Amino acid sequence: MKLAILGAGVSGLALARQLMLRGYSLSDLHLFEAHSVAGGLCRSKTIDGFTYDISGGHILYSKDGEVMDWMKQEAGGEEAFCKRDRNTKIRFEDRWVQYPFENGLGDLPDGPKFDCLQGYVQAWHLREKEHSEAPPDFAAWVRWRFGDGIANHFMDPYNEKVWKRPLERISSGWVAGRVPDAPVEDVLRAAIGIRTEGYKHQAIFYYPRKGGFQALTDGMVDPLKSQIRLNTRVESVTRHGDGWRVNGEDFDHVVNTIALNELPKFVEGIPEHVAEAMRGLAFNSIVTYLVALDRPEHPNLSWVYLPQRKQGPVNRLTYMSNYSSGNAPEGKTSFLLEVTFEGGTPTPGKELEEEALEGVVRAGLMERNEILFTDRSVCKYAYIVYDHELVKRREIANSWCENNALLPLGRFGHYDYFNSDQCVIAARDTAEKLARRATAG
Ligand SMILES: Cc1cc2nc3c(=O)[nH]c(=O)nc-3n(C[C@H](O)[C@H](O)[C@H](O)COP(=O)(O)OP(=O)(O)OC[C@H]3O[C@@H](n4cnc5c(N)ncnc54)[C@H](O)[C@@H]3O)c2cc1C
Repeated sequence: MKLAILGAGVSGLALARQLMLRGYSLSDLHLFEAHSVAGGLCRSKTIDGFTYDISGGHILYSKDGEVMDWMKQEAGGEEAFCKRDRNTKIRFEDRWVQYPFENGLGDLPDGPKFDCLQGYVQAWHLREKEHSEAPPDFAAWVRWRFGDGIANHFMDPYNEKVWKRPLERISSGWVAGRVPDAPVEDVLRAAIGIRTEGYKHQAIFYYPRKGGFQALTDGMVDPLKSQIRLNTRVESVTRHGDGWRVNGEDFDHVVNTIALNELPKFVEGIPEHVAEAMRGLAFNSIVTYLVALDRPEHPNLSWVYLPQRKQGPVNRLTYMSNYSSGNAPEGKTSFLLEVTFEGGTPTPGKELEEEALEGVVRAGLMERNEILFTDRSVCKYAYIVYDHELVKRREIANSWCENNALLPLGRFGHYDYFNSDQCVIAARDTAEKLARRATAG
C-alpha cells in the first residue's frame, strides 16, 4: 500500500515512524517536503555557535508520558536532553511579576495592584451574583473573567500583540485549558504577598542538549532519510481511482499535513464552498529574532512575557541559552524574540527589528552594546487564529478531506492548536487507522 505524506514536519515524520513500527514497509512511505530541511516549525538554525528555534522557543513537554518518552527515544534517549524547571515571568515596568499574572499581583506597583485586585473581585462578585455564562468573544470574556484592571494592564495589550486583531474578533472558545484560571482566594493571597503557585502545567520540561529543538525531528529523519523528498513542493494532487496522484505519481493513500488554506491551489475537485472555507481559515505568521549576546550568563529564567505597549512589538522573549548551554558558545548567551503578524499580510521589514530591539532595551532586559549579532527567521503558518468562523470552516474543510481519502493531520493540516507532542499523538492515531485499513483490505 503506497502512501504519500505531504509535508515532513513533526506530524509527517512521526506518522511515517509510527507506521514503520507497525510493520509498514519503508519503501511504501513517501514524504514530500518543500523545504531543504525536514522538521517544519520544529526546525532550528545555528550561526557562529548560536542555535535557535526558528518559530519561537520550543520545549518538550507532554501530559502523555508514553509519547514524551517515545519522542526522547527517537532523538537519542534521556541523555540527549536537558531537564529544566520552568521559570517564567512577566516583565512589568522595571519589575518581575510571577506568572500567571493574577498569581503575581503582589509584585506590581501599588496603583496597578489596586486596579487589578479591585477589578478581579468585582468580576468574581458579578459572576457569583448573576450566574452569568462565559461571553463568546474573547475581549468580553477577559473582562468577565479577570475584570477591568487585569484586562487593561495585562490581558488586552498582551493579546493584541499576539493576535494582531481586535479581541472582539477572537472567540473565547480557545481559552479552555490555555489561559490559567486561579481561584479568587489565591489571587487575594498573592496580592498581599503570600506566594501561591498558580500554574503547574509544564513545571518541568526537556530540551535537546545539542542541535536545538530540531534534534527531535532529526532523530525521526534518520531512519526515513531515503524516503524524504526534500526541495519537492507538492504542486498537484489529482484523483486516480480510489487513490490520488501526487505531482504525477500514483498513491493508494495520502495524508496531508500542509496548511488547509493551501489545498485549493493544488488539489483537484474541491467544491467551491469547501475551497472558500479553507481559504478563509485565519492564521498568524511569526518573525523571530535571535539576539546573540556578549554576556556570560542570564537570570535563571526560561522565558518572559512582555505585555506592555511601550515594551515594543515583542510578546515573548526566550532565554535560548538557558534551555541548553549547547545553544551558545562558552561565555556567551542568547535571547529569542517573537513578533507575530497577521497571516496573509506582507512580511515586515528591517524597521520591525529595530522596534523589537528598542522595546527590549526599554524593558531593561539588555543593553545595545551587548549585542554581537542578530538573525531573523519567518514562518508563514505559526498560530491558528480562533476567530468566530474557525469551527465551522474547519469542520467543512476536514469533513471533505476525510470523505475524499485525503487524511488531514497536524497543526495546520487539521487546524488544531497542537504542540509537537499532540502532533505525535494524532500521528499515532492516524497510523492505527491506516494499519487497520491495511489489515481489513
Ligand atoms: C511560537 C510557537 C511556539 C511553539 N512552542 C512549542 C513548544 O514549546 N513545544 C511544542 O511541542 N510545540 C510548540 N509549538 C508547536 C509546534 O511547532 C507545532 O505543533 C509542530 O511543529 C507542527 O508540526 P506539523 O508537522 O503539524 O506542521 P509543520 O511543522 O508546519 O509542517 C508542515 C510541513 O509541510 C511543508 N510544506 C508546506 N507546503 C508544502 C508543499 N506545498 N509541498 C511540500 N511540503 C510543504 C512545510 O515545509 C513543513 O515542513 C510552537 C509553535 C509556535 C508557532
